[in-house]
Amino acid sequence: MQGRILSKRYLLADEIGVGGMGSVYRATDLRTGGAVAVKIPHPFLAKDPAYQKRLQREAQIAASLYSPRVVRVIDLDTDEGTPFLVMEYVPGRTLADEMRERGALSVTDAVIVALEVARALDAAHQRGITHRDLKPANIKIVEGEVKVLDFGIARAEGLSVMSAQTAMLGTPEYCAPERAEGEGDIRADIYALGVMLYEMLVGHLPFSSTNTLALLRKHELEPPPPLPAEVPDEVAEVVEICLAKPPAERYQTPRELVTALVEVLRGVAPAGGALSDDPDALFHLSSTTPYPREEGSDTSQVRRTTGRRRTPAPAGGEPSG
Ligand code: ADP
Ligand code: MG
Repeated sequence: MQGRILSKRYLLADEIGVGGMGSVYRATDLRTGGAVAVKIPHPFLAKDPAYQKRLQREAQIAASLYSPRVVRVIDLDTDEGTPFLVMEYVPGRTLADEMRERGALSVTDAVIVALEVARALDAAHQRGITHRDLKPANIKIVEGEVKVLDFGIARAEGLSVMSAQTAMLGTPEYCAPERAEGEGDIRADIYALGVMLYEMLVGHLPFSSTNTLALLRKHELEPPPPLPAEVPDEVAEVVEICLAKPPAERYQTPRELVTALVEVLRGVAPAGGALSDDPDALFHLSSTTPYPREEGSDTSQVRRTTGRRRTPAPAGGEPSG
C-alpha cells in the first residue's frame, strides 16, 4: 500500500494502526500538503456492503460531531471500488500503548484522561450519539490532549438500528452487562469508561478471561476487585458508580460524570503548578490550567451527584494548596 495514491489525492505512507476491520495509514493530502490518516478496509471486507455502510456511518457520525476531543473525519471516498475514510492525523500514542509501557498511570493522569473522554462522550451525547466501542486502543493522547477515535460502530439514537451482529462487535473487556444482551445506551459507554479508569489506576483490567462468555458473565455478576488503598476514596467512588451493574445506578449522563471528575481532580490536583514537576507525567498542568479552578467552580451541581456516594463528600471549601 505504501506509495500508493488514492483518488489522485492521498499519498499513503506507513501503516500506523490495524483495527478489526482495516488498516490506518499515515498519508499526505497532495492538494494541501497536509498530513492525514486514511482508513482502508481489509481486502476481504472492501466489497462487503455491511462494511461499507459501517464506514459511511462512521463518516456521517463524526461529521455531525464537532469536538476537539473527537478525531475529525475529512472525507469518505472510493478508489477502484475500495472505500476509504480520510481523517485528521492524530500523532502520539494510544492509551493502550501508554498502559502497555507504563502499567498504571498516576491518579492525576488517569483522572484527566477519564475527564477528557467523558467530555467527548458529552459532546456525542448531545447529538444523541453513543460510541459503543470505547477502549484504550481507540483513545489517543498527544501533548496533553486526548482524542477519541473510531466511532465506527457508534449509533445515533433514532437512526436505523444496525444488525445485531455488528452491534456485538464491541470489545468484551469493556462491555457493559446490558450491552451483552444487545441493549445499552450512553450509560454503557459510561461503564466502558469506568473499566478504562479502573485499568488506568491499577494497570490491569477489573475483569478478564480468555473465554468471552465467562468474561461477559463476570461483567454481569462479579463485583470489581477492590482498588488499591493508594487510590483516593473519591476516585474509587467514581469508578464504583461507573461500574454499577444496573445502568440506573451509574451516572446517567456524561455531563454528570464530567462534573464528578472535575470535583475529584480538584482534590487530587489542588495545587496546579506542582504537577509539572514530574517529567513523566502525561499531563503537565500549570497554574493557568482551567481544570481545578474555572470548571470546578460550579460546586452546586457537583453536590447533587454525590448523593450516590458511599461516604459523604468532605465539607465544602477550597483545598488548601
Ligand atoms: P478499527 O475501526 O479498524 O478498529 P480504528 O479507527 O480503531 O480502526 O484504528 C485502528 C488504529 O489506527 C488505532 O488504534 C490507532 O492506533 C490508529 N489510528 C486510527 N485513526 C487514527 C488517526 N486519525 N490518526 C492516527 N492514528 C489513527
Ligand atoms: Mg478500533
